[in-house]
Amino acid sequence: MGASSAGDAHFLAPVGALSGNGPLELLYRLQDRIRFVAARQKERDTVPPELTEIDRAYQERVEALTNLKQRLARDEVEHRKGESEAADIREKQKKYQTQLRSVQTSREYGAVLNEIDGVDKLLRSTEDRLLELEGEIEMARADLATREASLPAETAEHEEKLKDWRTAQRSIDSELESAREEIRKLEAQIPPRDRAEFIRLLEKKGGLAIVKVVNNSCAACHVKIRPAALQILKVGREIVYCDSCKRILYWDTQTS
Ligand SMILES: [Zn+2]
Repeated sequence: MGASSAGDAHFLAPVGALSGNGPLELLYRLQDRIRFVAARQKERDTVPPELTEIDRAYQERVEALTNLKQRLARDEVEHRKGESEAADIREKQKKYQTQLRSVQTSREYGAVLNEIDGVDKLLRSTEDRLLELEGEIEMARADLATREASLPAETAEHEEKLKDWRTAQRSIDSELESAREEIRKLEAQIPPRDRAEFIRLLEKKGGLAIVKVVNNSCAACHVKIRPAALQILKVGREIVYCDSCKRILYWDTQTS
């Protein structure tokens, strides 16, 4: 597509065949719908900041509860292991005490006393560890109970907020669907080559390929349109480009 204002009659060739601003009106509406879809799609895919925060906070609470349960389970396993160790130690204690009653020499007696002293120390440290674990388990169980009690309400609140967001998304989806349907219908009315050319221009011009004439100026760049170009525009039989920003000018008979 050239940059001249009136020399691009090849583009939208049927412009002369249709009455008035028909094809340009169609392009203007097509551009409007394409812009609408892009904006709404972006809105649809952007999670509102207040919901992002709510979701993060909720996920953190769920995660904390899972971690707490895992820690409690580990502590309980360790506690059971400790209890069975303590039972073994007590068995040894009994065994040595029995031995102590049947020793023959003072040397044997001293050796068994030594063993008893060792298992006594081991039992004390094992029992200390068990007490410590019991304290931790008790605290974790209380914490877990509090968290589990408040979770259903938190979950319900969270799902309620998600529900609002999903409803909003569904409403946008239906708007998008009807806008896309209109785009398909509009595109079907434009010859494929012209359509491709228009889409390329849209991409090149940041989504704004056709602009209205407002106060005899281009609505995009606000540069005044030459009187000769204005005359051609008003007749509406040829494509006129803005001299400055090279967008298609659209003389809207209703607002110009
Ligand atoms: Zn312009």
